Amino acid sequence: MVRVRMAPSPTGSPHVGLVRTALFNWAFARHHGGTFVLRIEDTDASRNTQESYDGLIDLFTWLGFDWDEGPDVGGPHAPYRQSERGDVYRDALDKLRAGQHTYACYCTTDEVAARRQASGSKSMGYDGFCRELTADQVAAFEADGRAPVTRFRMPDGEITFDDLVRGDVTFHSDHVPDFALARANGDPLYTLVNPVDDALMGITHVLRGEDLLSSTPRQIPLYAALAEAGIGTGAPRFGHLPYVMGQGNKKLSKRDPEAHALAYRDQGFLPEGLLNYMALLGWAIAADRDVFTMQEMVAAFDIKDVNPNPARFDLKKLEAINASHMRLLSTEEIGRRVLPYLQSAGLVADPPTAGEQAVLDAAMPLVSERMNKLTEAVDMLSFLLVDEAGFTRVDEVDEAGRPVVQAAYDALSALPEWTTAAIDEALRVALVEKLELKPRLAFGPVRIAVTGRKVSPPLFESLELLGRERSLARLAAVAG
Ligand code: GLU
Repeated sequence: MVRVRMAPSPTGSPHVGLVRTALFNWAFARHHGGTFVLRIEDTDASRNTQESYDGLIDLFTWLGFDWDEGPDVGGPHAPYRQSERGDVYRDALDKLRAGQHTYACYCTTDEVAARRQASGSKSMGYDGFCRELTADQVAAFEADGRAPVTRFRMPDGEITFDDLVRGDVTFHSDHVPDFALARANGDPLYTLVNPVDDALMGITHVLRGEDLLSSTPRQIPLYAALAEAGIGTGAPRFGHLPYVMGQGNKKLSKRDPEAHALAYRDQGFLPEGLLNYMALLGWAIAADRDVFTMQEMVAAFDIKDVNPNPARFDLKKLEAINASHMRLLSTEEIGRRVLPYLQSAGLVADPPTAGEQAVLDAAMPLVSERMNKLTEAVDMLSFLLVDEAGFTRVDEVDEAGRPVVQAAYDALSALPEWTTAAIDEALRVALVEKLELKPRLAFGPVRIAVTGRKVSPPLFESLELLGRERSLARLAAVAG
């Protein structure tokens, strides 16, 4: 039975790399009919914030990752927030100690650095000084008032594992120093709690970013020690996903604006567009196909197909993929999805009034096929939804356009019925035939006068929707 987890730490705003990692875990779980666990790695109280936790839950909910176990939904291994699992880690530490897998280390970092310098050793990390302390040495340290950290005793030899993405990976234990599992005050560290939870929660596969590859050789012997101590059954299988590179071929870092996952929601991307694009950062459904649904991804996903080479984040491509997903949605669906954006722009009430809903129902068919992102509805529809006092023109009608707008006003104010067909006919006669203007020069100034923009939904329909009174008032304001 496949059990995978997403184990984010709630620090700062969630990174797009996290979306890719979560997606591959989720698709792997769903492909194998397995379980997808959400676990919050929030033991570092100094760096974790509630705001960041809320951001993670918002993000995963927006993306549609339905976790089978985790915060909110619970499960057999609850709680799923590490900050609530202190007893579990203390128990694990006791068991590891009892099995001689750990030792108390009294060294300060300065002492370790001084010894390294004195011996000319190039190796980084801890030198094992406290591994075999005598009772007298321990007594002296204790008398000195020093409190020890708890270190893991790395076994000697090579550590090899078969990475699901990279194949065989080998580290020599000489390059993997003994590492701390708990602080001097007894607080457990990430190095301990992450494997303890994976072991206890029965995680079978760990798919995570390549930045964590170097922690794997430390974790594999720790899983073995935990299993010996009766915690879990040994190491899961690992698959390290390729780096996501940003501008200038540098790793996309938290500081890059395009790294913030929730910004894509705010900018009006569809979750299916972002997910489809993130899937392409290391995976492909077929050589000649970029656009697919999550159902198709789940059906086709095989972790062995993930490419270990770094993947480049390309905003243009994300936009194109998103536009393709917009084309897959019905007008009604786009109408539902634009609502939160129109509401946060203050154009529509929550819930919309009957009048607003009627305008939207009539206007969405005019715009939905032109939209590449949901936020575009705000610019495209604001001329219909703002009250007259809030109407502003983003673009200007130039000098030459004013008489054109005047002629449009004259023709339209005489119209007996206010329908798209009648408006179309009247404006063509007045502007194209009588003034002998090319359609662009005829309708461009009228468009700006009534919608405030050079680019708008189709003009005649827009005028009909806007209504006679408002249309004529806007034309009059510019005419002359
Ligand atoms: N909490 C870790 C992180 O956010 C997860 C590490 C892992 O996936 O094993 O980097």
